[in-house]
Amino acid sequence: MINAAVGALIAITLAMGSSAGMPSSAASGAPNESARPLAGLTIAIDPGHQLGNARFPRQINQLVDAGGFKKACNTTGTATNAGVPEATVAWQVSRAVRARLVRMGAKVVMTRNANSRNLWGPCVDKRGTFPGQHGAALMVSIHADGSSARNRGFHVIAPQKRAPWTTTTAKPSLRLATQLRDALTSAGVPRSTYVGSGTALSVRSDLGTLNRSVVPVSMIELGNMRNASDAAKMTTRRGRAQYADAIVAGVRSYLGRS
Ligand SMILES: [Zn+2]
Repeated sequence: MINAAVGALIAITLAMGSSAGMPSSAASGAPNESARPLAGLTIAIDPGHQLGNARFPRQINQLVDAGGFKKACNTTGTATNAGVPEATVAWQVSRAVRARLVRMGAKVVMTRNANSRNLWGPCVDKRGTFPGQHGAALMVSIHADGSSARNRGFHVIAPQKRAPWTTTTAKPSLRLATQLRDALTSAGVPRSTYVGSGTALSVRSDLGTLNRSVVPVSMIELGNMRNASDAAKMTTRRGRAQYADAIVAGVRSYLGRS
């Protein structure tokens, strides 16, 4: 219980906190609900690959159930021409997304919690089942593509409807993919010139991470790591912030929490 005098003091502290540009939670110790539009939600992020995958060929080549068919546990991922690995870019962008979502009140769970040359996986089947096991409302899987140098731009992948695996997830996942596509477009990230015929959307049946999820899931290919301008965006803090802001905006609009 709070008496009137203490209540007034809290109100003054909140006002001072906001005028000083401080986060209200830091200023008052109490969350400001209007600044926490994702409170009560769990969101899963899947940072693609793992930095050590190439060092564990036996483990990452083991076959797992990718949704009614067998597929390698994981792959090494691609890299920029300068040698920055996809696993690292996926990790950095995922962390930037997580920080933003947490500030907005969400609980964030990630399929891996380190980017290490001494680790591998998890396998795609485990990545897929992860968000359902953690009560997540949705999952965003973050990757970057490797294509010929003249190709550029992002695209977002949703699972194809394939009973029984994606019967309930195909439709909402495509809606999530579309919201992410729209947010990335609004943020000025160029759409893929080589996947999706200008829509930057792709529907696929071959991805275990998407097939094995029981909640809506989309996979973002941030850009083509072999393209100089895409690589420049991925390897600067500013560029990664642009991706992260857009991904969060897409998640919020999908959830109706904009
Ligand atoms: Zn990848």
